[in-house]
Amino acid sequence: MEGKCTVDAELSDQISALLESPSPNQGLGFSDESEPPCLKQEYFEELLKSRKCVGLKVKPESDLGKGLYADVEFGEGVLVLKDQMLVGAQHSSNKVDCLVCSYCFRFIGSVELQIGRKIYLQELGLSSTDECPSSPMDGLQDSSNGDHDNLGTCSSSDLKERIPLPKEIVASLMNGQLALPYSEQFALPSLVPCPGSCGEAYYCSKLCAGTDWDQSHSLLCTGEGSRAICREALMKFVEHANETNDIFLLAAKAIAFTILRYQKLKVYGLQDQRQDEHARRNGKSSLLGWAWCTVSMAKFWSRLSMCGLLTTWWWECVALPEDVDCCDEVSFRKQIRDLASMSLQLLKEAIYDKECAPLFSLDIYGHIIGMFELNNLDLVVASPVEDYFLYIDDLPPDDKETAERITRPILDALGDDYLVCCQGSAFFPLQSCMNHSCQPNAKAFKRDEDRDGQATIIALRTILKGEEITVSYIDENLPLEDRRTQLADYGFECRCAKCKEEDQ
Ligand SMILES: [Zn+2]
Ligand SMILES: [Zn+2]
Ligand SMILES: [Zn+2]
Repeated sequence: MEGKCTVDAELSDQISALLESPSPNQGLGFSDESEPPCLKQEYFEELLKSRKCVGLKVKPESDLGKGLYADVEFGEGVLVLKDQMLVGAQHSSNKVDCLVCSYCFRFIGSVELQIGRKIYLQELGLSSTDECPSSPMDGLQDSSNGDHDNLGTCSSSDLKERIPLPKEIVASLMNGQLALPYSEQFALPSLVPCPGSCGEAYYCSKLCAGTDWDQSHSLLCTGEGSRAICREALMKFVEHANETNDIFLLAAKAIAFTILRYQKLKVYGLQDQRQDEHARRNGKSSLLGWAWCTVSMAKFWSRLSMCGLLTTWWWECVALPEDVDCCDEVSFRKQIRDLASMSLQLLKEAIYDKECAPLFSLDIYGHIIGMFELNNLDLVVASPVEDYFLYIDDLPPDDKETAERITRPILDALGDDYLVCCQGSAFFPLQSCMNHSCQPNAKAFKRDEDRDGQATIIALRTILKGEEITVSYIDENLPLEDRRTQLADYGFECRCAKCKEEDQ
């Protein structure tokens, strides 16, 4: 693919307006134009309010760019923040192992269904743990910057030989006829199918189904009720993303989110006085800027801004995989760019909207993916199947023996990877405001009650009022040199107390 695509050339003014740092004029459209910093402040205050966060403040101007600060004292072990994702997606390879709500990522159905479905798909040879993909782009899968394990795909090797279960047993696990001992203690929400009947998205509740539909799925659904302009192209887009890099699925969600928001603003939004004023001054085209601001705000006040990487395309910021030689860097980056261009072409055929044309430029697409590349955080939800088997293992000897007569063959059929958890990537707008320290005072940690895809941040020690809340982006116990190498992928050099001291 040569040169810029036509959208980029024709709409270059609008595209650069969307990529500019949001100003009061084109961002949220506040009538007070004099003080841009208030805009950021107001955006984050809204965000904190929507997350029901108390005792936190985002200060856009700290030494490191923006930062998250404590406005009250947090005791050790206390929950500091629960952050809902802006967009998130389960890794394609993980879908065989775990059936989760497509919106909140909670496990759904029943322990029996989770187990039966996994064994059934395993037998069909679909399990992610059965085959290691080998296309040249697979190295990029799951490989945002930092210390990502290559979870789920090639890491877990089957040490134990699996002993297959009779087909009828697998079927009765899936259709609910067979109830495993004590499984009622691990009850899960029942499946709510996608209202567009794609048969691919399932939810834990009508609320999740409706919210996802309104936010992005109505455009990205491959079912009959879909609002996509070409479902066939959409299926090709999804297939391409599954085969190459599922970061494209996240980017598509961000674009669909913006289009649907734009359409809603056009119909209902003008009643709001602020928006009214905004529209009067800037005309209809700026509605797109408004719709886009949720994504662009995240972009501009995320780690990118502190790295000075405001205008970085994915193909430029992606870390060079270890198996790619430095001299092949140019062709590697071109290959990545072509891949993005291919993906965008498919997405355009599937959900193009003339009024939102700039969103379908390679420029914008590359920026969205670049933002995810640098800011993405792992999405992990513990599996109730693992909890279930641990519970059986902990039973008093007599009860355990009785229960294991039924559960033992099931464990044998699952093999060693029964404990695979739900894995994906997601963008968390508030968590992405937290700066790094090699001596962090907080960390991402899921407590027993945290059963969905929200990010939870816990205080590692007492955090005083006014103190900045920091997490470590990497393994902070590594030697200084290794930490520096890993943090270079995030585009900065750490100057925390620990680094300064070790540098002496
Ligand atoms: Zn849900
Ligand atoms: Zn659907
Ligand atoms: Zn440091």
